[in-house]
Amino acid sequence: MSESKIVAQELAELDKKHFLHPTSSIQQQQEQGPGFIFTKGEGVYLEDVSGKKLIDGMSSLWNVNIGHGRKELGQAAMEQMNKLAFSSCFATFSNEPAIRLAAKLAEITPGNLNTTFFTSGGSEANDTTYKLARHYWILKGRPEKKKIISRKRSYHGVAMGATSATGLKPFRDFTNSLAPDFYYVDNLSAQSLREMVEAEGPESIAAFVAEPVQGAGGVHIAPENYFKEVRKVCDDYDILFITDEVITGFGRTGKTFGIEHYGVVPDMMCFAKGVTSGYAQLGGVVLSESMFEDFKELSVGTLLHGYTYSGHPMACAVALKNIEIIENENLIENAKNMGEELLKGFKWIQGERKLVGDVRGLGLMGAVEIESKVHGKGPLSPMIVNEAAKQGLICRSVVFDDMDTLVFSPPLTINKQEIESLINILHDSIYAIEQKFL
Ligand code: PMP
Repeated sequence: MSESKIVAQELAELDKKHFLHPTSSIQQQQEQGPGFIFTKGEGVYLEDVSGKKLIDGMSSLWNVNIGHGRKELGQAAMEQMNKLAFSSCFATFSNEPAIRLAAKLAEITPGNLNTTFFTSGGSEANDTTYKLARHYWILKGRPEKKKIISRKRSYHGVAMGATSATGLKPFRDFTNSLAPDFYYVDNLSAQSLREMVEAEGPESIAAFVAEPVQGAGGVHIAPENYFKEVRKVCDDYDILFITDEVITGFGRTGKTFGIEHYGVVPDMMCFAKGVTSGYAQLGGVVLSESMFEDFKELSVGTLLHGYTYSGHPMACAVALKNIEIIENENLIENAKNMGEELLKGFKWIQGERKLVGDVRGLGLMGAVEIESKVHGKGPLSPMIVNEAAKQGLICRSVVFDDMDTLVFSPPLTINKQEIESLINILHDSIYAIEQKFL
């Protein structure tokens, strides 16, 4: 057996014994070992311990926006770590990368979103917005405003608040006690929000939270006027509007932030993932100027919310370099253009393959629906994902809520040739499953 096979086997055994994986099937791990053990990344490609190369059609977890293997980010991390790896941001202590990143975010976020609270990731960012929203209404003398409304098919993370806000029920059913005061409305209907607000009573509602494009729930794109109507409902009833840009931020949809497609500005915006392209763990919440003005005026004593790693100097230094690369390399423009190519490819497959239903995309977030039901079969997208992985493409299947959908979000650096490879592998994988099941 070759040296690399021996190492791969040893790692697989250790993985099965000692590693409880996030969002994974334990049964699958125990029967088959880890799906891949990755060792290298370069551009849109990942390579595993056996030397197999795959297109990372998901930017891993929708997050590696500038692609793999960017030495500049390693350099930025090393320089900052060597200078100041960590210092606290509690008790008004501060550090230069956190300050500069907060200022940069004020510059690139829409409207009057100007002040940032940092977290280590997207779940913490979501929990932060729910707590800040409720705290805000306490300060405003309206403590009864505490309900948080989110949308069906939404995903906001796995911290207790974020799980409670998540509209995909299986994530909530994972545990048997959730945070109270969370409600769910239809995902693409502002009328459904208005009805919920009126039924529950606006005096009891703190905030509404939505992803500009729903990601993990199957890439659902809102109709053109949806967010304008949502903003109006929130304004009519004094409800804070929160956007969760954890996936849609930093160029993913062909604009810097997803909500920019809809011409409205939220009161708070969650971000994570693409802020560092996954090279360091960072997230946060950007607050509107008017909210921060109210906090400045009304807050007394200590704001009792903060994570050890809020404003982590190394993570913030990496984010600054990452944003610089996104800007210098026109990656947002590229996401828009390559997104159009990707969608063209999906439409071509739709014409070729019986199994394919609706296809959609915005920038480099895309979805291909598989019509297993039409053909009287169980969900087939998981099998297509396995076949695609064999053929050299990583994508993801969404089977919640009776969906049978493939989702995609390749790095923003992807070029036309790489899109073509992605589309060809996807086509051939769907064809292979059609041959087996139709
Ligand atoms: N919000 C959205 C929209 C997400 O897609 C995710 C992660 N997929 C999260 C929040 C949670 O982020 P994290 O996993 O970094 O906690």
